[in-house]
Amino acid sequence: MFALDVQQLTKVYRGGFQALKGVDLQVQEGDFFALLGPNGAGKSTFIGIVSSLVSKTSGRVSVFGRDLDRDPEGVKSCIGLVPQEFNFNLFLPVIEVVLNQAGYYGIPRAVAKARAERYLRQLDLWDRRDTEMRRLSGGMKRRLMIARALVHEPRLLILDEPTAGVDIEIRRSMWSFLREFNAQGTTIILTTHYLEEAESLCRNIAIIDGGEIAERTSLAILLNRLHTETFVLNLKGRV
Ligand code: ADP
Ligand code: MG
Repeated sequence: MFALDVQQLTKVYRGGFQALKGVDLQVQEGDFFALLGPNGAGKSTFIGIVSSLVSKTSGRVSVFGRDLDRDPEGVKSCIGLVPQEFNFNLFLPVIEVVLNQAGYYGIPRAVAKARAERYLRQLDLWDRRDTEMRRLSGGMKRRLMIARALVHEPRLLILDEPTAGVDIEIRRSMWSFLREFNAQGTTIILTTHYLEEAESLCRNIAIIDGGEIAERTSLAILLNRLHTETFVLNLKGRV
């Protein structure tokens, strides 16, 4: 079964701009998948549609066999999203950010507390549980968003540019958390414009550009092709 099966997905924003032009994309269960592309390529639009934040214009989206149109709640329950941008009440303590999200999913309080502790510990934030969000570094905020996204134990974790603007050391430590979650069975899709991030983490990638999939390949094949200079130039022009 595919974790994500998207067919002929299009998005025309109000005002007439076409951000997605018939995207086909399948991601296998258990995969660690990167959607790579330059700014404005349509990555966040794609992620937004899959996570029910943005309406689609046409096409089919199915997540673990659940169709987005017929079973939107079923799809939502399978997905944990770490959005590209987040604006929260910055005075909220770390633990409450996670517990509030659990409340949104109707998770019983005792279960929510146990999970919040487990994920905050895994993400090295348990000692900060009473710290207000505004006191966290950029890297800590991103980790908090991951803990928040995991609280309903989604089978698919989607991260939209999770390490944009985060320095390389913090980026690497986040990579190791993500590898661990993937090894434990969570399918992961991330968008990035760092080729090295995809290289370090992912098994399969797609390159999106101008609302269309320009490449769909395994990382091994991509890296092989990177040895040919023309492809490097070609890719650098796009990513
Ligand atoms: P990416 O995440 O790859 O940078 P986005 O999906 O955010 O790309 O945006 C793709 C294109 O759609 C961009 O040209 C952007 O300006 C446009 N776009 C994004 N959101 C909207 C919106 N709400 N209304 C109109 N155009 C939008
Ligand atoms: Mg984006």
